[in-house]
Amino acid sequence: MGIVAEAVVDLDAIAHNTRLLAGLAAPRAGTMVVVKANAFGHGVLPVARTALANGASWLGVTSIAEALELRAAGIDAPVLAWLYAHDDDFAGAIRAGVDLSVSTAEHLAAIAAAGPANVHLKVDTGLTRNGVNWAEWPALVEAAAALRVNVRGIWSHLASADDPGNPSIMRQVDRFEEALAIAGKSGITPEVRHLANSAGIVDVPGAHYDLVRAGLALYGVEPVDGVIAGLRRAMTLRARAINVKRVPSGIGVSYLHQYVTDRETTMVLVPVGYADGVPRLLSNRGEVALHGERRPIAGRVAMDQFVVDAGDLPVALGDEIVLFGADPAAAPTVEEWAAWAQTNPHEILTGIGARVPRTYVGQEHPHG
Ligand SMILES: *Cc1c(COP(=O)(O)O)cnc(C)c1O
Repeated sequence: MGIVAEAVVDLDAIAHNTRLLAGLAAPRAGTMVVVKANAFGHGVLPVARTALANGASWLGVTSIAEALELRAAGIDAPVLAWLYAHDDDFAGAIRAGVDLSVSTAEHLAAIAAAGPANVHLKVDTGLTRNGVNWAEWPALVEAAAALRVNVRGIWSHLASADDPGNPSIMRQVDRFEEALAIAGKSGITPEVRHLANSAGIVDVPGAHYDLVRAGLALYGVEPVDGVIAGLRRAMTLRARAINVKRVPSGIGVSYLHQYVTDRETTMVLVPVGYADGVPRLLSNRGEVALHGERRPIAGRVAMDQFVVDAGDLPVALGDEIVLFGADPAAAPTVEEWAAWAQTNPHEILTGIGARVPRTYVGQEHPHG
């Protein structure tokens, strides 16, 4: 086997998480699985197919290119795309039956001119990121009512759903209600109203409406600290030892020798680095699992490789190193990696590089 590192994706975990999240959603609410950024690094097509086969009814992506990739693969479930320039080429997306989010009057006009589209009007209820500015919502709604577009959805995004009790959550829900009422006055009653992300699914039942949008939780990371929903982490990142050397005490390891051995020990070379998504912040801080033990990363993580201090473990060439995995008793988790790297699990997962092959276990899935 020539593979020296791989991200193993457990499609049974994706299936389990999809069913669990669909079960948590309000009784008549559908479940959109957010498969942007190559399904948070897990591989978009196997994840999309597995989720659709296990209770998901919608797919969410950012770019039109991502939506068209799903269509080109023969996936015909509803797809919503939500991030593009106002002068993008919308005709292809409309022909492919891709729903388009609208956050400015300019986007609305260009989409309406490109063909009969399904649009989801996005209102900024307090995140202050995308979505039409609150003051411009009535005008956007009126413009949509007058144009040849089907307003299939009205939606918004929560700023702080992962912070239980944060007062901004209910303020945004109230604003969303107000936005729906304003749209209703213009005769717009969409098929799907949607507001909740993963954290909203597990912790803000009042935000579920007709559709929930599951990102992080689909991949098995609990989205709200202290709220255990029973999700299963889908990705294991593992590699093989490609060099093993016994070194004496007092030896400097990796660039600038920021790790110095304090006894005779065994150094193991792991063939992935920051170009593959191992954060440089894990230098001298992170751990990996080797022979069932947690062992420290010794010295600087380099672009393509790093070194682990294996102590006296009898490591041989080709032995498995689990960088992060599903079971915290067996290996570090992606949440621990995120803490070491001072980031969130999303950034770790989406940062796993293109050089690392994705392999799949679990659910039978069609290839492609
Ligand atoms: C990425 C994204 C999501 C998924 O968010 P999670 O917190 O990972 O569930 C949902 N909605 C929008 C608009 C997004 O951009």
